[in-house]
Amino acid sequence: MKRRDFLRSTGALGATGALLALGGCDQPSTEPQSPIAYEPGKPVPWINWAGNQSCQPQHRPAPASIDELVSVLKTAKGTVRAVGAGHSFSAVVPTDDTLIATDLLSGVIDHDPVTNTAQVLSGTRLHDLGYRLADIGQALPNMPDMAYLALGGAIVNCAHATGVNFGSMGSYVNSLRLATVGGIFVG
Ligand SMILES: Cc1cc2nc3c(=O)[nH]c(=O)nc-3n(C[C@H](O)[C@H](O)[C@H](O)COP(=O)(O)OP(=O)(O)OC[C@H]3O[C@@H](n4cnc5c(N)ncnc54)[C@H](O)[C@@H]3O)c2cc1C
Repeated sequence: MKRRDFLRSTGALGATGALLALGGCDQPSTEPQSPIAYEPGKPVPWINWAGNQSCQPQHRPAPASIDELVSVLKTAKGTVRAVGAGHSFSAVVPTDDTLIATDLLSGVIDHDPVTNTAQVLSGTRLHDLGYRLADIGQALPNMPDMAYLALGGAIVNCAHATGVNFGSMGSYVNSLRLATVGGIFVG
């Protein structure tokens, strides 16, 4: 059974269902690849990686700077959500109102060689971050088994790897600059 099919089964059936679903490993999946089809005249569907979450956002801004992000937030309509790599398999991303793509908010914007810290935009994908940190002589102590994740999504969900002495991605954060409708908050 493919990893994507497994996640879809476990999401739909729960923990007990996961065990039942494993019994059918040799059965080819007959499920459609996409849980929601595009219909002309309706918003283009958003679908997560596993294919078990979807929505049809009316607005899908993709700000390319922090200033642009704040201005998007100030004029955003309805329920506003951000999306990183869309690898969460629970319903933490879907909204039919405003879905903000963070892909263009990417890169290391500052670093401190003394404290060995870096300021990184939250849309940076982990597979990209490794190279960018290497350029400044830094590296993540540990990371999840999946490098497609965006840093923001990995921090929000406290994505983790293995090893009892390593914290989750959230534990690597010293401070945050949070964009809100009221502007930028530092914490
Ligand atoms: C194949 C696979 C392997 C995985 N392996 C691991 C693993 O090894 N360890 C582990 O812990 N987890 C693992 N996961 C779970 C996954 O790492 C988490 O769900 C992770 O948070 C997904 O990151 P993302 O960038 O896709 O976030 P998304 O799913 O896009 O978003 C996650 C949440 O963060 C919010 N968010 C995203 N970006 C921002 C932002 N810039 N600002 C504010 N909020 C934001 C979203 O609104 C949403 O609530 C795996 C998932 C899959 C599908």
